[in-house]
Amino acid sequence: MNDQIGARLAPNMVFQNLIGGQDRPASDGMMLDVFSPVDGSLLAQIAAGTAQDIDEAVAAARAAFDGAWGRLTATERGRLLMKLSLAVEAHADELAILESRDNGKPLRQSRADAIALARYFEFYGSAADKLHGDVIPYLNTHFIGVERVPHGVTGHIVPWNYPMQILGRSVGAALAAGNATVVKPAEDASLTILRVAGLAREVGFPDGALNIVTGLGRTAGAALAAHPGIDFISFTGSPETGTAVQTAAAKNHVGVTLELGGKSAQVVFDDADLKRALPTLVNAIIQNGGQTCSAGSRLLIQRGIFQDVVDAVAERFGKLRAGHPEREPDLGPMINQAQQRRVLGYLERGRNEGLTVIGEGAVAPDAPEGGYYVTPAFLAPVPHESILSQEEVFGPVLVATPFDGEAEAIRLANGTPFGLAAGVWTKDAMRSTRVARSMRAGQVFVNCYGAGGGIELPFGGFGRSGHGREKGFEGLVEFTTTKTLVIAHG
Ligand code: NAD
Repeated sequence: MNDQIGARLAPNMVFQNLIGGQDRPASDGMMLDVFSPVDGSLLAQIAAGTAQDIDEAVAAARAAFDGAWGRLTATERGRLLMKLSLAVEAHADELAILESRDNGKPLRQSRADAIALARYFEFYGSAADKLHGDVIPYLNTHFIGVERVPHGVTGHIVPWNYPMQILGRSVGAALAAGNATVVKPAEDASLTILRVAGLAREVGFPDGALNIVTGLGRTAGAALAAHPGIDFISFTGSPETGTAVQTAAAKNHVGVTLELGGKSAQVVFDDADLKRALPTLVNAIIQNGGQTCSAGSRLLIQRGIFQDVVDAVAERFGKLRAGHPEREPDLGPMINQAQQRRVLGYLERGRNEGLTVIGEGAVAPDAPEGGYYVTPAFLAPVPHESILSQEEVFGPVLVATPFDGEAEAIRLANGTPFGLAAGVWTKDAMRSTRVARSMRAGQVFVNCYGAGGGIELPFGGFGRSGHGREKGFEGLVEFTTTKTLVIAHG
């Protein structure tokens, strides 16, 4: 590999937990090695957080909530978030390089994530003092006020695919609403979150408002989900882990938002503007190597144009290159070997079902040895019942299925257990509205598609994609509850 690349990061990076404003090793001193998916090399070490660390982080958050952090006004909290937004923006290049080495995503995507993170802090910082309650008409002798109050201490379990963006949308909103927070980043991508937590300390967040405990899901994550001192949990990750987190939270009778997986369809009618649609149809699955919960992983194409669209998509797939994230490839490596094997395993199962790959990219010849690269694959026609139409691959694998009429398109689009996002492509305005409104999905795009995008736009799922909403003002409301004051005055 070219040795200038990556040279801008300090060698042998070691990160500890951040608890109560202090860098703290794991209670038993254990560390986890962090390997870069780019070339499999050792990149850093992070603390292997324990249940005791979670306990201490929750106690630090509680002390902040009851103390310096809880005493701030909404405006003061908002200003701190705005300062953090500026600090993130000023460090966007550093964060981008760190993310690309840690997570493998192309540098431009990492930079976009850092800018999105800054924007989340700006959005929620500026919203902090605009969240207010209600006055309810009741008996003439009583005044009724409904106040919006923070839950208290919130737990945030973050996946590896968009660490910065998911930190921004959940922790940004939680802090703006006045909660004190404990974050458990994914073991495969903790570094940018730790760096941002350092920036929060530098801009003056009170100790304990933002605590980070890194480590394994089954230890640190499970301890956070089950902790009786946590008042609300935001979980983003796989449906299986979501079940475990919600079950643990139920024992403490606390609420959760679950942002889980997807198998989102893009429906292409025969009057669609294909020139406009084609780049988006491909990018919606290739972005972040397909490791995007709202990736457009299924194409439903009206039969009359099926072959033409499939040929055009296959041609574009043929030009895709997976490679070193700092050489501006179409996609970087998968996050780790397990994910690489998962994607290859799905393709193998597709071949065993008799499916054909009709468009295939390549791994760039100069992609570093030891990285977890896979070639993007496009399969068509793929029956709706196929495992590749029904299960989330979470990789650069796109399938296409033909449909005849509008009713069938809606049935197929809604025909998986997931319901995260959907796209509709047609020039017929009435049909686009009709079909879009029939989609069982948290976000529906017409003649466009925004996998993962939209800081201002509420986001979340139906069914196996989860429940609760993040992003936008609705995401801020999720991190509050109401308190009704009944005041007799006559
Ligand atoms: P994952 O469920 O394996 O891990 C997510 C987080 O949960 C990690 O921090 C992990 O350490 C932790 N964890 C693991 N086991 C745990 C346990 N028993 N208790 C508590 N925490 C535990 O998911 P992943 O592989 O990191 O992410 C991929 C999945 O996330 C995909 O299914 C994807 O669709 C989904 N995702 C959804 C969204 C969304 O907004 N809907 C966004 C990104 C990713």
